[in-house]
Amino acid sequence: MIDFELTEEQRALIDVARRFARERIIPTVAECDRESRFPRDVFEEAWDIGLVNPTLPSEYGGQGLSDVDSSLITEELAYACTGIQTSLTANTLALTPIKLGGTEEQKKKYLGWLASEKIFASYATTEPAAGSDVAGLQTRAVKDGDGYVLNGTKCWITNASMASFYTIFATENPDLRHKGIGAFIVHRDAPGLKIGKHEDKMGQRASDTCQVMLEEVRVPPAQVLATPGHGFKLAMETFNQTRPDIGAIAVGLMRRCLDESVAYAKERKTFGVPIAQHQMVQAMIAEMAICIEATSLLVRKAAWNLDKGIRNPIVSSYAKAFGADSAMQSALDAVQIFGGNGYVKDYPVEKLMRDAKVLQIYEGTNQIQRLILSRLLAAKLQSGGRKGATR
Ligand SMILES: Cc1cc2nc3c(=O)[nH]c(=O)nc-3n(C[C@H](O)[C@H](O)[C@H](O)COP(=O)(O)OP(=O)(O)OC[C@H]3O[C@@H](n4cnc5c(N)ncnc54)[C@H](O)[C@@H]3O)c2cc1C
Repeated sequence: MIDFELTEEQRALIDVARRFARERIIPTVAECDRESRFPRDVFEEAWDIGLVNPTLPSEYGGQGLSDVDSSLITEELAYACTGIQTSLTANTLALTPIKLGGTEEQKKKYLGWLASEKIFASYATTEPAAGSDVAGLQTRAVKDGDGYVLNGTKCWITNASMASFYTIFATENPDLRHKGIGAFIVHRDAPGLKIGKHEDKMGQRASDTCQVMLEEVRVPPAQVLATPGHGFKLAMETFNQTRPDIGAIAVGLMRRCLDESVAYAKERKTFGVPIAQHQMVQAMIAEMAICIEATSLLVRKAAWNLDKGIRNPIVSSYAKAFGADSAMQSALDAVQIFGGNGYVKDYPVEKLMRDAKVLQIYEGTNQIQRLILSRLLAAKLQSGGRKGATR
């Protein structure tokens, strides 16, 4: 049975998130973008009304919402500002490896902490010399009694300056590549952990992005999430579960592009008629609408897979890659529809264009998505014949 209908609860959830996005996020956006500042009060209010950590399991004090529910929240927040939304939803990236690989004690402690206090957590694989090539990371994890000592630098870490703890991936020996990688929970106040520079970004400027430096940071055994050799798989499975959300961000951003473009195209006149009557403008608007619908369906399917426990990284990557490329094109077209007005900060679409770009970069660039897809599809075609191979 196929059912695209949302439940009453899901429609209510959308209403709450939409109202919050319009009333609390949109009014702060221009200033936060200009000042490259995340509005902490917005996070605290979003937390109070259940828009933060939605999938945190109920047995650890969370709401235990589904991945489909979570994608609906993300979409509404992203409509208002993908920078603020990225920081509001990034805890999910940090908590997913704990949910997937943590011991019962770790889940109780760290998922419980996120459920009971208004805190941030960050996820850190990327390093100055290892982004796409996760297996090439250099941060060292040296065994020290039952625990480990970490040394290295992580970069591009979302919410790093605000986080209370980090899930950090490090290797016992870089020559072992993926076979040497482990995962560790590190507290913000751990001696030797320092926050580096705040990145002055092109877009999503309201999202906090910093380096994290680790100098002789001791990790006690209770905070070892995956011993060396088991961390790479955990990092990849985390991405499989979080990539559909990038598609949801894309949907929110594209819906904003469409709304702004239609409103402007009905107002702005050239050659004696509103530009909405020119076929080439109409084509750009129609294309945005097609991409919104197609990405929504991919996100819905990818999130539904996760909710049903169906492992399908192919569809997760489709949702991320198609959504991000579509969002970039929609934002470019929105600027085009606004003409010169699209090129200045007085109108909202230039920010949409700056914000859209990073969707093609973070959580695995869109080139890496195609690399993953080509490998997965080749393996699937080889082993299982053609039926259903691309889905
Ligand atoms: C705003 C922002 C927030 C982020 N948040 C986080 C976070 O919270 N935690 C975290 O760990 N990381 C985070 N990242 C890092 C992000 O995941 C990486 O930037 C991304 O994976 C790309 O890595 P890189 O920047 O090192 O680019 P590189 O790996 O150096 O790639 C450069 C270019 O080469 C291409 N390329 C590389 N290898 C191949 C290949 N084999 N085939 C084809 N093309 C290839 C890439 O697609 C890209 O176009 C964030 C990044 C940004 C910009």
